[in-house]
Order: sequence, then C-alpha cells, then structure tokens
Amino acid sequence: MLGYFKNAFTPRRDHADCSGCSLCLLVCPVWRQSRDVSLTPPGHFKAMQHGTSAADAAASVENCTLCMACEPVCPENIDITGIILELRRQLAAPAWMHGLQARMTEMAGRKAASAPSSSTMLLPDQALHAHPDLLARVVRLLGNNGTFPVSDDSSLDISLALEAGVAIPEQHLQRFLKLLRRLKKIIVADGLLLRHLKQWLPKADIIGLGEALSGHPAVRRGLCTTDLYVIEPRAYHSDYQRLVKHYDRLRVAHGCAFNLDLQRIAIPATARNLPQRLGLTMPNDEGQTRWVLHGRNINRIVVESLEERAVLEKVSNFPVVHLAELVDDGGHAQQT
Ligand code: SF4
Ligand code: SF4
Repeated sequence: MLGYFKNAFTPRRDHADCSGCSLCLLVCPVWRQSRDVSLTPPGHFKAMQHGTSAADAAASVENCTLCMACEPVCPENIDITGIILELRRQLAAPAWMHGLQARMTEMAGRKAASAPSSSTMLLPDQALHAHPDLLARVVRLLGNNGTFPVSDDSSLDISLALEAGVAIPEQHLQRFLKLLRRLKKIIVADGLLLRHLKQWLPKADIIGLGEALSGHPAVRRGLCTTDLYVIEPRAYHSDYQRLVKHYDRLRVAHGCAFNLDLQRIAIPATARNLPQRLGLTMPNDEGQTRWVLHGRNINRIVVESLEERAVLEKVSNFPVVHLAELVDDGGHAQQT
C-alpha cells in the first residue's frame, strides 16, 4: 500500500489539499455500504473546498466510523480523522450530547485521583469495563499473575467525548494526563483514545491492548492456522507503520489470517456510525461483518475488541474468542 511508506513525521495536511483521487474509497466501509460519495472524504473535502459548512457535511461527519483505514492510503497525507473530529466539534451539539457535556464539566471540578501505585496502567474501553471477569483476566495475564491499576471512568468519558466531538475541559484533561505521565507503560483498549494519547504524550510508552496481548508468549501459542484474527482498526491505524510488522511476524509464526487484505484492511466488523455507537439508533453492521468473513477458510475467530464479538457470533457459526481467552487461568495456552 502506497501510504505505508510515508514518513511518520511527514506533516498531516488539510482538506484543501485533497486532490479527489478517491483512493480512500477502496478501504472505506461507508463507501462500500452506501456507494454515496457525499458520505466519503473526497465528497465532503471537495464540498468544503467550495465553501460548505460543517452543518452541510453533518451526515457525512456522523456516518464516518472513524476506522482510520483511509489515512494510510491517502497519497496527500491528509489528516482525515482529525478533520472529521474537528467538524464534529463544530456541529451544534444535539440534545443527547448535553448530558455528556454536563458530565465533563462536573468531572473538571472533581478532586484529583491519587497517584498510581504501579508503573503500568490499563485503560479499558466500555465493552471491557462491562465484562469484569475478562478485565480481571487481562490484568492477570499482562501483569504476569500480579496486578496493576485499571483507570477509573474518566478515561471512558474522555473516549466518548472524543468520539462525539464534545469539548473536554482543559482542567480535566490536564489532570488526567498528569496522572498518566507518572507511568512507565500505558495500555489502551480504545483506539481513538490511543491515537490522541500518542499525540498528547509523545514520549510515553503507550500501546494498544491488542498489541499488548498478542505480544504475550502464551497468547501467541494459543493462535493457530485456522484462526481469523480480527484486528481492532483504530488502534492499528494509530501506529500502522510499526504495527504492520508486528502482525506480519504473527502471521509468519502462527499462520492465522487477518482482516488486513485490500478493501477489508482492518475495517471494523462493527462498522457503526456515531448515532449507532452511542446507542441512539440500531446498528447496521451485519453486511460489513459478512464481508469481513466472506470466503474465509477458518475454524475460529479471535478478536482484540469485545465490541466485535456479538455481531461476529450473530453472522457466523464459528466460535468467537477474545485474545485473553486463548490462555487458561493457569497462564497456559488453551487447546483448540
Ligand atoms: S475513517 Fe473509515 S469510515 Fe471514515 S472516511 Fe476513513 S475509511 Fe471511511
Ligand atoms: S485519498 Fe486523500 S487525496 Fe485522495 S480523495 Fe481521499 S482524502 Fe482526498
């Protein structure tokens, strides 16, 4: 892929630099489902070049799944995700957002959390938070049967605010970052938060949960040649130049298939737009999930993100397991 050879330090460019080449359509799940160019980057960037406002682009801005698959392929190195998030921030906040805005303001006035007692912290996403048994298993595994702290709900709120385009009060954000600066290692389940943390704390050691688990020797031993390993796309695209090598090593060593082939390149099984992600409208992700699975010769699906599990189970007859479930409680790879 052309974009994979871009220099990581090449400055990101603005919507004005979009040439309209449409290469990003090749990987965009919104284009695949809608065939409506007005909902895609060249559609709304070209419209913006002719003076349309954020309000005119509202449908497009809401429909983007923020999978970030378009960024590696863009020859102009346009900051597509950053532009979409900025447009979300410019859109007038609908009524359902007011609760989140009020919560952000309330959190800005909270007392600072005490300093972490460990050098590592896990920032789980909403789905992992909702499964405490699996969350405890992840901590045991990554802590080598020891333990380390799990972030409180402030990281969940910040993730949600980023996704929805709600302003995060500076005081709240700085307090959250101050806590993280004391850590040696930060493991992040939410890919959008991971992307921002890498920008906010460029010197910190921050990795995605999928990378952390798939780098664990016992987890790796649990993978096999008939697995489809579903990469969480946001975390992947936040650091694709490095992670493409990580997953290639996994493929060579364990022979599993990945959702990395052209047009299914790390596109989310849960291809949800903003209202669907926030639970305001019904998700319409089964077509996308079938496409990710189409033509695969596999016996099992392994996921990095629990968000993917329900829809994958719904449209396939294969067992779907989270990476942490590849290892039993004794720390040994589960037999398939
Ligand atoms: S982030 Fe994903 S859904 Fe949004 S424009 Fe890019 S490829 Fe399409
Ligand atoms: S790949 Fe980049 S330059 Fe080409 S249409 Fe998409 S956003 Fe514009």
